[in-house]
Amino acid sequence: MSRTVYVNGDYLPEEEAKISVFDRGFLFADAVYEVTSVLGGKLIDFDGHAKRLERSLGELGMPMPMSRDALLQIHRRLAQENDLEDGLIYLQVTRGAADRDFAYPAPDTPQSVVLFTQSKPGLADAPQSRTGIKVVTVPDERWGRRDIKTVQLLYPSMGKMAAKARGADDAWMVEDGAVTEGTSNNAYIVRDGVIVTRHLGTEILHGITRAAVLRFAREAQMRVEERAFTVEEALSADEAFVTSASAFVMPVVEIDGQRIGTGAPGRVATRLREIYLEESRKVAV
Ligand code: PMP
Repeated sequence: MSRTVYVNGDYLPEEEAKISVFDRGFLFADAVYEVTSVLGGKLIDFDGHAKRLERSLGELGMPMPMSRDALLQIHRRLAQENDLEDGLIYLQVTRGAADRDFAYPAPDTPQSVVLFTQSKPGLADAPQSRTGIKVVTVPDERWGRRDIKTVQLLYPSMGKMAAKARGADDAWMVEDGAVTEGTSNNAYIVRDGVIVTRHLGTEILHGITRAAVLRFAREAQMRVEERAFTVEEALSADEAFVTSASAFVMPVVEIDGQRIGTGAPGRVATRLREIYLEESRKVAV
């Protein structure tokens, strides 16, 4: 069945949803995006995603194309029109279409705004959450402003392919000996009961799920250290896991072919996943 897609004010069948070949998102990756999960027809942490969108746009000298409330209404209408029970809503905002030039076009150039849904039945009950995933490490060769959620996703995409070629599910990127993050998630280890994840900065995306999970962990009296960790520390950790809006909290059971802890999802990751899903559903909109 054809989905309904939002493009610049219109709700269209996906076959009719089109963007100009001169769009700067297409030509320069001059665009930012967000992915919000939907559980039971409701949006998880919409406000966090809207705030980060505004920040990403601001860092690139772009305004919000519309109010947060207007964005929320589009998300809701798309979920409704597509009967989206469990899944994701993708949102992209570009600097718009203009004759190809490295300099930005005039500020009054209309931005492009696109949203579409992806249905993922049983998203919160993914079989991988019970078995855990395997990751491999790859050098982090992305640009330096990873805190801006741009659509320049070729390197992470290459990382994912490198992982698959090595029989793994995903890649952790490494810079100066320390893990930055996964290709599309934030990375964590647990050592002696302490949850360790890289501190915020320009080197990683400020995950919305990360912020919520760390808040829940602290509320549950778990110890958290926000600092860089090495691959060696990860290999000898008791547990490892990743977080993202689409995977929530996902245990990692193998890194570079080496088993982590017992080789099964750890207690901390499993507990955090339960808490995250329970608490997020309560405040979903
Ligand atoms: N890091 C990167 C590089 C990502 O692409 C993502 C997912 N968009 C994340 C972290 C996790 O962020 P969030 O929890 O907001 O989905």
